[in-house]
Amino acid sequence: MDICSFKDKSVLVMGLGRFGGGVDSAIFAAKAGAKVVVTDMADEDTLSDALEKLSPYDITYHLGNHLGDDFDGTSDTDIVIVNPAVRPDNKFVRLAENAGITVTSQIELFFEMCPAKIVGITGANGKSTTTAITAHILEGAVKPARKLWLSGNIGNRPLLDILDQVGSDDIVVLEISSFQAEQLGRSKKAPHISVITNLTPNHLDRHGTFEEYCKAKKAIFEFQQIGGDEAAVSIFNAEDPVTNGWFEKYSAESGRISHAYKASDVGAELAGVFRLAGEMNLSNLAAALAVADHFEIDKDRLLKAVSTFKSLPNRLELIAEYDGVKWYDDSIATTPDSAVAALKAFNQPKIIIAGGYDKRLGFDEFGKVIAEKAKAAILIGQTADAISSAIHDAGKRNVHVEIVGSMEDAVIRASKLSKPGDVVLMSPACASYDMFDNYKQRGEVFAEAVRRRAAGNVRCEVQRRF
Ligand code: ADP
Repeated sequence: MDICSFKDKSVLVMGLGRFGGGVDSAIFAAKAGAKVVVTDMADEDTLSDALEKLSPYDITYHLGNHLGDDFDGTSDTDIVIVNPAVRPDNKFVRLAENAGITVTSQIELFFEMCPAKIVGITGANGKSTTTAITAHILEGAVKPARKLWLSGNIGNRPLLDILDQVGSDDIVVLEISSFQAEQLGRSKKAPHISVITNLTPNHLDRHGTFEEYCKAKKAIFEFQQIGGDEAAVSIFNAEDPVTNGWFEKYSAESGRISHAYKASDVGAELAGVFRLAGEMNLSNLAAALAVADHFEIDKDRLLKAVSTFKSLPNRLELIAEYDGVKWYDDSIATTPDSAVAALKAFNQPKIIIAGGYDKRLGFDEFGKVIAEKAKAAILIGQTADAISSAIHDAGKRNVHVEIVGSMEDAVIRASKLSKPGDVVLMSPACASYDMFDNYKQRGEVFAEAVRRRAAGNVRCEVQRRF
């Protein structure tokens, strides 16, 4: 499909979504001259931000429900653009397929129309960080000869919005979610350079089993073009058992350059100038360096790029240092694995602030690592009791555990318990929806409380102490 295939067509955008993909698709179709209908299960109030962005365009809305007529061939729908959050076995998607309507997605359209080389990065954890480091390194190295674009689940501009400006010599670095990888797999498309950071069970509510989740991610290697002018490049984490297995499988194939990386591959000089904390970030850097290997980058430029990369917001972000204590916002850590990685990132004594919305991922391992690595855990939100039990079950060691009622109180207690040389880590291991709008707002509330605390003393009540 190209942009002309949209002229005068009836395009149905299914799902506006929370991450801007639906808005991007609707604007793209409207600008391409299509008659656009947007349908979403959510109502007008819930979608008000997205609707505001679409207000300059002539769009029809079917909100609060999907209408069978839009999908089953009764109306004149030619193309359905499906949001990544919609399951492929959704009954309306099935209706459209059975009616012979073209079913596609934002990411598929991008891959079909993008003239440039695409670097695609996916994985359970570290996607955004690895994508941002990769883009930062390539940006410093390939400009001004080639233009660098950063998009996907990251970046300021969504995929289809950049499409008409991307040139064939440019490089596009994309963060690809598992849902998008699944959609790409459906259309048998994949990046020129594909990277996987690691795989741990996540999003099982959508993918069903870990095997299905892995299958969705694997699509970015499975469908790479083998035997073209340029060999496909496949980059795997050698320290992850599943992705290392994939490396063994794919490296045996000819016509593909396969590469397996380890955190320890990062040389002392680069590791020495890299500002991000933790072994996992060295692993992310190693992945980015494996990509950079496929572009001609001289050593000085590489060193400069690595030394100037700063952590992304809410990802082990150092937000304050006072009275000898460093305060890190790791609000993006919505899974126990991420929070475990954060705890392992520091050698200093650690106070962790954790807890939140229950994604039912289980806290056994998290409890053990807290018991081993932290001096105190201040717990908030729905999962506070479950995390506390996991710490107790792990034998608790010398860790001090408290449950408090708000982020503000957590910060106050952490401040009271901390000594010069300590690290306070807000790495919740849980989603934020029980107490906050999203992880960003949770991070803001934390940062604000830390700043207030730094400015003066505030009293607080501990609900329970163990
Ligand atoms: P994603 O985009 O996959 O969610 P991010 O780069 O945004 O990943 O990082 C999310 C969280 O995962 C952060 O809390 C960070 O501490 C943790 N993390 C980052 N890289 C890794 C990694 N390679 N392995 C495990 N955890 C990681």
